[in-house]
Amino acid sequence: MNIDRPKIVLLYQSLLGIYGDHGNAVVLTKRLQWRGIDAELLIVEPGQPVPTDGAVYLLGGGEDTAQITAVQELEADGGLFTALDDGAMLFAVCAGYQICGKSFTIGARNEVIKGLGLLDAETRRGPERAVGEVLHIWTQPDGNTYPITGFENHGGWTELGSDAKPLAAVEIGWGNGNRRDEGAVQGRVIGTYPHGPVLVRNPQLADHVLEMALGRRLEPLDIPEMTALRQRRIEAVRTDRS
Ligand code: GLN
Repeated sequence: MNIDRPKIVLLYQSLLGIYGDHGNAVVLTKRLQWRGIDAELLIVEPGQPVPTDGAVYLLGGGEDTAQITAVQELEADGGLFTALDDGAMLFAVCAGYQICGKSFTIGARNEVIKGLGLLDAETRRGPERAVGEVLHIWTQPDGNTYPITGFENHGGWTELGSDAKPLAAVEIGWGNGNRRDEGAVQGRVIGTYPHGPVLVRNPQLADHVLEMALGRRLEPLDIPEMTALRQRRIEAVRTDRS
């Protein structure tokens, strides 16, 4: 990985790109560039080699059948696994999160598909589809809590094994399906359900991913309009529920 020119690698947008999660890759790149770091955004589609020198890799949400193809392509290529072994970060949303687990079930076929095995997690069809605005409470490395806003839309419910820890606690929404825990963290892999894109809506989570990837703290970067918008969203979703 080139720390001076970090690569943000957006994987398989044509397969797992229907919820606009590519915005996560854009905001990571921008937040580095706004700090004067010469970051580069790479878009990698199925069939193209996955570079092994990226700093952060991103997977987004998509439909069940696209998930099967994404697993096959990533396993055949192997580059993502090499990059993670070399210290890169993977940030995966919804369908992308589910394929990182040990297995996931495809709705129409009710078939259990082997995942990438990067997270100790298994996804099965839930009794209902989890749809709606969410508010999740993320505990940052310094112990402070930070509400994460976004929206979820998934039929799969995810159960974590002991090697994976939840990313956040659910205040509003379904999270992993149990309405209690949300997402998963294991080593250098973070999986989460919210779209939004979630890293655009929640810049401190974006900076956490970048700091993990670069192995150092970044100078604070506050965009007051964004902070105000975030606050309004948090209040709106709490008010809607009450
Ligand atoms: N197809 C998966 C599910 O319904 C993921 C959906 C998504 O990415 N939003 O559980």
